[in-house]
Amino acid sequence: FPFDLRDAALLRDELLVDGAWAPAAGGARATIVDPATGTAIATVADGGALDARRAVDAAHAAFGPWSRRTAKDRATVLRRWFDLVVEHADDLATILTAEQGKPLAEARGEILYGAGFIEWYAEEGKRAYGELIPTNVEGRELLAIKQPIGVCAAITPWNFPMAMIARKLAPALAAGCTAVVKPAPATPLSALALAELAQRAGIPAGVINVVPGDAEAIGGELTDNPLVRKLTFTGSTAVGRLLMRRSADTVKKLSLELGGNAPLIVFDDADLDRAVRGAIDSKFRNAGQTCVCANRILVQDGIHDAFVERFVAAAAALRVGNGFEPDVQQGPLIDERALAKVRDHVADAVAHGGTVRCGGDAGELGGTFFPPTVITGATTAMRIADEETFGPVAPIFRFREEDEAVALANATESGLAAYFFTRDAARIARVGRALEHGVVGVNTGLISYEGAPFGGVKQSGLGREGSRHGLDDFLELKYLCIDGL
Ligand code: ADP
Repeated sequence: FPFDLRDAALLRDELLVDGAWAPAAGGARATIVDPATGTAIATVADGGALDARRAVDAAHAAFGPWSRRTAKDRATVLRRWFDLVVEHADDLATILTAEQGKPLAEARGEILYGAGFIEWYAEEGKRAYGELIPTNVEGRELLAIKQPIGVCAAITPWNFPMAMIARKLAPALAAGCTAVVKPAPATPLSALALAELAQRAGIPAGVINVVPGDAEAIGGELTDNPLVRKLTFTGSTAVGRLLMRRSADTVKKLSLELGGNAPLIVFDDADLDRAVRGAIDSKFRNAGQTCVCANRILVQDGIHDAFVERFVAAAAALRVGNGFEPDVQQGPLIDERALAKVRDHVADAVAHGGTVRCGGDAGELGGTFFPPTVITGATTAMRIADEETFGPVAPIFRFREEDEAVALANATESGLAAYFFTRDAARIARVGRALEHGVVGVNTGLISYEGAPFGGVKQSGLGREGSRHGLDDFLELKYLCIDGL
């Protein structure tokens, strides 16, 4: 591993099953590559179905004791984990940037954001209140209590290698569940480092298991195994559908955070500075590789030209480079496939009459780098209107009326994030309600917070992460009808 760590023991390269680090059953190992340089930085145990089964067995065995501990007790352990994550934030950020590519400051932001979920759910676990229901029969007491679902499988993506895991494990563990995590093949080191700190925090053996490796084999085992009671997944809509289908035979509970196609609307009455800043924040964070990145920017006629001028200038000024270099604001794309998709979307937009206002071509950048790109004259005939680009390309659509913008914003099978900018209070209320998206940012491009519910409508998924609602996703409601009192 070619980067300095204060605590080199955070760099784990084996599976974590039942509290022990172990090679994959088949002995396979996978190479992890730094996307900024294309060079190998580590090898990691590459698990399969058998490893996943062992991990599920361990999580099942650990479930009874962990679920019976008091919520306050679990909170103390989770709090220790949070403290350790914060203490090691610099090292965790280094590992994250090394395998994922995002700028180091952004990686550190992700670590602290992810840690926020651990802190928040450590507390919230104490508030899994039930209900005492007024009885309908004398001598009877009616209770509704909340109990942990059981073993949870968590399958996570590479774009937030740490935060997407923390945001699943924190509520799961706080609720009293145990878990098997399958991190993305590109970014297992962050998952393993997080698990190492969980071990040090005193999270018992089997409560968190981590099995990087063959997605289909591990995913197959996690979905087929009846001991797994819940699957929580963040990733593409296509894989989400597949996992949903595969979970049908064992009727698992599902939380799915799938793809988005976020609209960002700028109305004539917007604060221009805010709109430009918000659009830059939303579009280019993580090089456009987040499911809440603005995918389509809709700008009203009257403000269109002024917005474009300022937005293009701000986008062109973003510094692209290796995430370890100081002041870099945008790192590489994760791999060649991601780069090819971005190139295709740009070529398709140009073929359909779009005008590239900045970027558009990787030029001298090399590797999987792609510059911030703005395209005006976007239309619904372009692929970019329907598909999530997952890269630093901002197509700008021009519109006249509010209704037209709302219709365009909703004209997608996805419904994760949406953003709009206006200073009109009535419009905020109107458009805020009309948008068919689970998360709506008004006059801001940054909406993530552990205390707020995050999740999609339509084909963007099921369930919510963050907030008290996120805890409920790991709890079952049991009705106790007690007679003879
Ligand atoms: P992306 O295209 O952004 O990589 P994916 O949905 O392919 O998104 O990946 C998200 C996560 O889902 C990763 O951990 C990946 O390994 C996993 N995954 C991909 N295919 C499958 C599958 N068939 N079964 C289970 N997990 C899968």
